[in-house]
Amino acid sequence: MLLIKNAEILNHESEGRCDLLLGGGKILLMEPHIRISRQYREVIDARNLITVPGFIDGHVHMMGGGGEGGFATRTPELPLRDAILGGVTTVVGCLGTDGHTRTMGGLLAKAKGLEEEGISTFVLSGSYGMPLQTMMGNIERDLLFLDKVIGAGEAAISDHRSSQPTFEVVAQLAGEARRGGMLSGKAGIVNFHLGDGKRGLELLRRLRDETELPATQFLPTHINRNPDLFEEGIAWAKSGGFVDFTTSTVQAFLDEGEVPCGVALRRMLEAGVDPGHITFTSDGQGSLPNFDGKGRLAGISVGRVTTLFQAVRDAVLQEKVPLEIALKVITANPARILKLRQKGKLAVGMDADVVLLDPRHLEIHSVVAKGRPMMRAGKILVKGTFE
Ligand SMILES: [Zn+2]
Repeated sequence: MLLIKNAEILNHESEGRCDLLLGGGKILLMEPHIRISRQYREVIDARNLITVPGFIDGHVHMMGGGGEGGFATRTPELPLRDAILGGVTTVVGCLGTDGHTRTMGGLLAKAKGLEEEGISTFVLSGSYGMPLQTMMGNIERDLLFLDKVIGAGEAAISDHRSSQPTFEVVAQLAGEARRGGMLSGKAGIVNFHLGDGKRGLELLRRLRDETELPATQFLPTHINRNPDLFEEGIAWAKSGGFVDFTTSTVQAFLDEGEVPCGVALRRMLEAGVDPGHITFTSDGQGSLPNFDGKGRLAGISVGRVTTLFQAVRDAVLQEKVPLEIALKVITANPARILKLRQKGKLAVGMDADVVLLDPRHLEIHSVVAKGRPMMRAGKILVKGTFE
């Protein structure tokens, strides 16, 4: 068992100081002055640190992605090390542009591997192209029969790399995801990749307005990637939808008008968006291809999971968003939206995923995943199999 002493708990609000006893992967006790025999426990003293829930990264190309510049531009798999360094104790994997050399079988295997190495993993079923590449023939069956599958995606719209899906195709996909989610007790959410196309969120608005599907069935991502999409995103979120911002970036994207996540969060809050409708994800291990005005590939680099908390930190230190609000976009909000009921909050009975932050510069000090110390005082304790 692991005992975290003198923890200053910050969920969505400060809950004061107490001790946490972790065992069997769960939070067993949260109360002042827990006493337990020395031989049964390991102790971390969290005095002078802030104790928060482990971070959830809802969009990671964990088995690698990319390939937009040919085979040599396929990106590598997520090493456990990056998740630990970034305080990410729950990773949701997805395929991307390539749904053929990257397969659902490979994605599930990678998710199970990371789980064996010590963190929690889930996956989205599908890829950019439609009909989606699934394991069991369609998204509904994947949700029903595969424990790790919690939703669909990343399905591309308004992008030159999409299947240019029609309204009917997208509506059918969303309906199947909703039904599969209901029948399996999972989120069944559809994670839509939004490209730079001028149609923007048009398809999602039509789904909301012309079908019986609620706006909350969709989680559109990359909403901060260009100024027009960002403005559409504000209106979408104010009318009840969710918006997801991508934390991995390159200077070329910012030069083209991408809204940095910290700024994006502050501006959404200033515009009156419900803070519970906003999430950050890293797009980790995804390729960050830079296309020129003629659609030619001008450069490519790789997203990093470690950018997830860096963006939250920027929101707090540079944009003056309160820490408890900024943290929600990588803890409570994704847990609720993705229906990860054991995640996103420090409370008795929840999974024992804990991050300790140094309050001076908001740096990650220690990381505990499923009750196991993975990093302590900046030193990684658990390495991936080949690290
Ligand atoms: Zn994407």
